[in-house]
Amino acid sequence: MHVENLHKKFGELHVLKGVSLSARDGEVIAIIGGSGSGKSTLLRCINCLENPTSGIIRVNGEEIKLKADSHGHTIPADRKQIERIRSKLGMVFQNFNLWSHMTLIENVIEVPVHVLGVKRDVAIGEAEKLLARVGLAEKRDVYPAYLSGGQQQRAAIARALAINPRVMLFDEPTSALDPELVGEVLKVIGDLAREGRTMVLVTHEMKFAREVATHVVYLYNGLVEEEGPPEQIFGAPKSERLKQFIRNIG
Ligand code: ATP
Ligand code: MG
Repeated sequence: MHVENLHKKFGELHVLKGVSLSARDGEVIAIIGGSGSGKSTLLRCINCLENPTSGIIRVNGEEIKLKADSHGHTIPADRKQIERIRSKLGMVFQNFNLWSHMTLIENVIEVPVHVLGVKRDVAIGEAEKLLARVGLAEKRDVYPAYLSGGQQQRAAIARALAINPRVMLFDEPTSALDPELVGEVLKVIGDLAREGRTMVLVTHEMKFAREVATHVVYLYNGLVEEEGPPEQIFGAPKSERLKQFIRNIG
C-alpha cells in the first residue's frame, strides 16, 4: 500500500496537504496526531470512502484511477476498480459498525457470500474459525446489541479479516471502549501484528503503538511532521510539536 503526495480539500478546508506513506508487506504503520490533523480522512481516502483532491494511492500494486466530474470534483474513474481495491482492504472503525440486524456469524459471512461469491458453507466454516480466533466462538448466533463494546469490536475485526485483506486499516479501534475493555481488543490487534499482517493503525494508544508498530507517522495539520521507527518517535522525537504531543497524551 502506497500513498504519494495526497491532498484532500473539503470545499475551502485543505485537510491533507501532501501526505506520503507506504506500508510494505508485514509492516505495521501507526498514525498518530492531534484531533483534526487528518488521520481519519487519510484512511478514508485509502479505502475509497473519500475521493482525494489529488495524489496517488496504490493498493496491491494497483493505482486508484480518478477523474474530474462536471463540477471539477474528483470521482472514481472505474467503479469496478473501487470494488476490487476495497476487497483488498479490511477496515475497522471506532464505533464497530456491525450490522445490528445480523448475528455475528451473519456479519462475518455477509461480504464473502454476497460480494465475493464464496459458497455459504465454506464462508461459515471460515467465519467460525475467525470468531474463535478473536475469542467469540460461542457468540456466533448472538446479535451485536447483546455484546460488550470489546466483544463487538473483536467481531468487527473478524468481519474485516473474512475477506482475507492485503492490508488492515484501523481507525482508533479502542477509543470508544470503556477502559477495562481496551486490553482485549489490543491483544487481538497485537496478535495480528505479530503474525505479520500488514496494517495501518490510527491510534491514541501510544504504549501499544510503540510495541507493535514497525514505523510511526506523526501527522500535524494535514502533513507528516515527523516519521520513523517507534524508538525514535517516542524515545527521541525531533520536532517540538511531536515532543509536546507526546507530553500531552502520555
Ligand atoms: P480525530 O482525532 O478527532 O478523529 P482526525 O485526525 O481523524 O481527528 P479528520 O476526521 O480526518 O481528523 O478531520 C480533519 C478535518 O477535516 C477536520 O477539520 C474535519 O472537520 C474535516 N472533515 C472531515 N471530514 C469532513 C467532511 N466529510 N466534510 C467536511 N469536513 C470534513
Ligand atoms: Mg479520526
